[in-house]
Amino acid sequence: MFLTQATAAAVREEFGTPCYVYDRSTLEAAARNALAFPNAFGFTLRYAMKANPSHSVLRLFLGLGLHVDASSEHEVERAIRAGFEPGRIQLTSQAPARGLQSVVDRGVLYNACSLTQLENFGKLFPGREASIRINPGLGSGSTNRTNVGGPGSSFGIWHEHLDEAKALAALHGLRLTRMHTHIGSGTDPVVWKRVARMSLGIAGRLPDARVLNLGGGFKVARMPSEKSTDLQDVGAHMKQEFMDFRERTGRELHVEIEPGTALVANAGCVVATVIDVVDTGKDGYVFAKLDTGMNEVTRPSLYGAQHPIDVLGGEGRDAAKVVFVGPCCESGDILTPAPGDPEALAPRDVPRPCVGDLVVVGGAGAYCAAMSTINYNSYPQAPEVMHEEGGKLRLVRRRQTFDQVVENEVGQG
Ligand SMILES: *Cc1c(COP(=O)(O)O)cnc(C)c1O
Repeated sequence: MFLTQATAAAVREEFGTPCYVYDRSTLEAAARNALAFPNAFGFTLRYAMKANPSHSVLRLFLGLGLHVDASSEHEVERAIRAGFEPGRIQLTSQAPARGLQSVVDRGVLYNACSLTQLENFGKLFPGREASIRINPGLGSGSTNRTNVGGPGSSFGIWHEHLDEAKALAALHGLRLTRMHTHIGSGTDPVVWKRVARMSLGIAGRLPDARVLNLGGGFKVARMPSEKSTDLQDVGAHMKQEFMDFRERTGRELHVEIEPGTALVANAGCVVATVIDVVDTGKDGYVFAKLDTGMNEVTRPSLYGAQHPIDVLGGEGRDAAKVVFVGPCCESGDILTPAPGDPEALAPRDVPRPCVGDLVVVGGAGAYCAAMSTINYNSYPQAPEVMHEEGGKLRLVRRRQTFDQVVENEVGQG
């Protein structure tokens, strides 16, 4: 954990709770580690900005030379405003981008994720180079909700439709120079190697392909019991596959990866306060109610994801088994569900919390601020702070005001 108790107290003092805090040196270290990804014939690191689209994070990664994977034309706009040249942004969107014409006219790379998207692109830009996302038929998310490949996933062109994609490309004179797969392959280098081999097999049927993008999904450990991906090991395994591919085909493919989680997850936390402690009797539970929950860290209630929770200043108190919940009137507002089961409660062993205690929810740099259920129960959106080298705390997004919560309602007095 990058925050000391004194720093967490300073965050509360200056910005109030709940408050997101990101750590510059952790972000930089993660990016530098990913930039050193082993490769055979060239490499591009794209940051999947949906994990955390904060201007401050984008600026930092821009400075380190990263490219961007955007999930909507709105994310494209955010990346451009942060200073990314359009040619360093690739749009991989579930929605056929409404602004496709202008996005591509600006120089943004477009990755067609369905036959419809490919056809739209071909009609607007006949004769161009194009990229396609393929669902290679295999998935490996840790829950069904996080599966992004295989027959249960709608992402990408199903691998059996490759010939249709090629026919569409031919119809519009497109050259399929870039191929993309993102199936969320976890931590095991052997699985990644298999994914690379399978994807290279498909790329073998796309004679114009020069770039193979293997997506993100490099898991990181948020909890001590979890395991992080070793990017150097994964890269080394995959590099061999790219070299074997050249042996077989004479073709040298450039590799891209586009991690979100791996670059930001452990560089963020939420500083919060215990607002109440209740229990349900001797056969029940002890609940610590925090001023943060599903509104800032939605992943536990959505997928039963695990985040470390530290009660600061509790040394010397009795240990207790505690269920941490958020402040919403919502039974699903739980921070400590059982792993993978958002419906079950899994108490944590912590020093018995008291009202007013500072609490830090860790692993909150990815898919937390970005995916929050903001304004449920009309709580304002939490602020974001960058913990700079040397310890300075820099506000990067203010807390929403009450007026901002209701500002778009028509008829407000
Ligand atoms: C979400 C996403 C990523 C990043 O996934 P992580 O699990 O955060 O690494 C990469 N590529 C695409 C196309 C995505 O949708």
